[in-house]
Formats: sequence, C-alpha cells, structure tokens
Amino acid sequence: MSYFEDEIFSKKDNFGLFEVMNVAKHEQIVYCCDPSVGLKAIIAIHSTALGPSLGGCRMWNYESEKEALIDVLRLSKGMTYKAAVAGLNLGGGKSVIIGDPKKDKSEALFRSFGRFVESLGGRYITAEDVGTNTNDMEYVRMETKHVTGISRALGGSGDPSPMTAYGVFQGMKACVEELYNTNSLKGKKITIQGLGQVGQALLELLYKEGAELYITDLDSNLTERLAQKYNAKAISVNDIFKIEGDIYAPCALGGTINDNSLKNFGYKIVAGSANNQLEDEIKHGNILKEMNILYAPDYVINAGGLINVWNELQGYNKAKAMKEVENIYNILKNIFKIAKNENIPTNLASNRLAEKRIELLSNLRRFYLKNS
Ligand code: NAD
Repeated sequence: MSYFEDEIFSKKDNFGLFEVMNVAKHEQIVYCCDPSVGLKAIIAIHSTALGPSLGGCRMWNYESEKEALIDVLRLSKGMTYKAAVAGLNLGGGKSVIIGDPKKDKSEALFRSFGRFVESLGGRYITAEDVGTNTNDMEYVRMETKHVTGISRALGGSGDPSPMTAYGVFQGMKACVEELYNTNSLKGKKITIQGLGQVGQALLELLYKEGAELYITDLDSNLTERLAQKYNAKAISVNDIFKIEGDIYAPCALGGTINDNSLKNFGYKIVAGSANNQLEDEIKHGNILKEMNILYAPDYVINAGGLINVWNELQGYNKAKAMKEVENIYNILKNIFKIAKNENIPTNLASNRLAEKRIELLSNLRRFYLKNS
C-alpha cells in the first residue's frame, strides 16, 4: 500500500494529520507519550465498523516518527481487511512502540502502554507482534483486559503461529485444488522461505502430508538441521527463484514478489504467511494474473493467528478455533471464483469482498440506529 507515501508524504512537506487519516479513512490516531518510562507509541484505529479494532503491538527502532506513523496506518488498514474477509466481527487497528525491543523493554513501559489501551474503552484490542511477545502482553494485561495472545498458562491461546501455519496449509490445499483438481499436497514441490515460528510449523504439516520440500532460512545451520529432520532439500537464500516448483511459500519478509523475482518466476502458486508479499499491490497483483500464477492473498491465507486470538476473546476452545481456521480453504475458493468471474487479480477480489462486507454491515448498523 504505497499510496500513503505516494499520495501524501512524498508530495507534501507539511502534511496535515486529518488529511493523512482521510486517505484510507482512519477513524482515530492516538499518540501515547510517557517520558517517565520512555514510552512513545502510536495507536491507529482504522475501522470499528464490524466490531472493536484488533491488531498487534509492534516494537521497532523506527528511524523517524513519520516512518512509525506510515507503518501503523498501513498495518491497521490491513487488519480491517483481514478481519472482514475472515468473517470475524472485528475491526482493524494496530499499534507501534518506537524503541529497540532488545534494549528498551520494561514492565513499566508495557504497563504504561496498557493504560493507554485501557483509556480507549475497548475500541482497540492489542496483541503481540514483531518485537513483542506474550510476556510483554502479560504486563499490558495488568492494566487492561483489552489484550489477547496471552499464554496458555494464564488462560489465553498462546503463540498464534501454529494456527497461522495451519491456515496457510489449508490455503495451499485450496490453491492446488484450483489448479490440479485435487486438494492433496502429496508430491507437490513446495519451497518454504523462512523457517521461523510459522515456517517450521508449516514444514511439519507439509512433511506429514508427503510434499516434496525445499527450504531456506538466513540461518543455514537451522536450514540444514531441519532439512535432515524433515527429509527436505536445503537451498541457499539466493537460489529460491532459480528453481521451479508448484508452490512458493514466503514465510519470512514482505515484498518478495517484485520486478526482480517475477523475471524468471518458476512457481505456479504463491501461498505463504508473510505480510505484504506484493511489493506493489496493484502492479504485481496484475503481473501475477497475466503470468497465470495463482496468488493466495497474504492477509487471507495468514489469518489463522487472528482467528485464534478472536477465539481467545470468546473463551478459548482449540478445536473450535481449528475448525474456523480450516474455513480459510472455503474463503480462498470463493475469492478465486470472484477473481475468475470478474477477470481481476485475486488480491483485488479479496479487497472487494472485504469492502462489501464492511459496507453491508455499516449500512445495517446505520439502519438500526435510525430506526431504534
Ligand atoms: P519469525 O521471525 O519467527 O521467522 C522469520 C524467519 O525468516 C526467521 O527464521 C528469519 O531468519 C527468516 N528470514 C528472514 N529473511 C529471510 C530471507 N531473506 N530468506 C530466508 N529466510 C529469511 O517470523 P514468523 O512469526 O514465523 O512469521 C513469518 C512471517 O509471517 C512474517 O512476515 C510475519 O509477519 C507473518 N505472519 C506471522 C504470523 C504469526 O502468527 N506468527 C501471523 C501472520 C503473519
């Protein structure tokens, strides 16, 4: 979603915050400052049309406040779309804490952040994200109940990564069904890029299914070790687009679908957990379509973790959460159908699906308010 930068920031030196909020229709931006504990945070609520906004708290050493603002605006809008397509009664929000997660964390900082979350009265629910973890969220929990992703020991749903991986696994099945008329991944040649929390859980699921696996991570020792354990072929980070296969599963960083990687792209499907996989949403979504490469939109296929924390809010039941995560299969099939019928890229089809649901429920809410 580069339009934040293109349309606002790079063209004008003096942007107004209301103008920025109008670009993607953000409802509220909250700047949180507590010098006594070194807290500088921004909470962005993109939409509460479907329910309270939910999205993780990212802690990152941003180079500037502008960079932090762009990130939180972009991420919070993404959460609205993710919740809408997943069929959850949640809106989209996100928060960022400006600081180095290796050096600047303290109980006081997260408790202060928790008090800001509490002051929003439930309009924003936080969770862990890049740079934060369940321990940090337990400090937040001391000040507010509007937090998810708490450890199993404290009655929460724990680390959401295995559920994210399970959702990606289901999404891959929907993709192969679309191309090969079978939803089995047995014998399918699949490359996993990134062997972190999600990548490793996905690797295990695919190994059990009998897929032909190629794996890579920045940590080559880890790659070798996991290759042995799961009978996979370890490849170097730079060779990922030199080989051909059925599925490319980006489970590391965003932006890997770009002009470079698409030059000699040898996979038929893109299906992985990474956020913001398309460097340019419109341009690279179109190119994938023209090249007949099936793309499982990132925020649809990686919604398993969000569905899991949504279940935590209802009183956690793992079996129920897994059933709901399995529905990612049907959601993707529906998106592929819309894309085919309307002859549009799959990422555009999922955006339209999200916008339709938000509009429908906003109209319903307006109707009830008017008539109550
Ligand atoms: P993680 O930090 O545990 O793992 C990421 C892994 O990618 C690390 O092992 C890292 O070494 C590796 N990596 C980084 N750059 C690489 C490269 N160029 N080539 C190969 N490997 C590389 O992260 P995670 O929790 O497993 O999440 C993976 C992705 O999925 C992230 O983009 C994350 O935002 C997204 N995601 C995660 C969840 C979740 O529940 N954890 C939910 C939704 C989306």
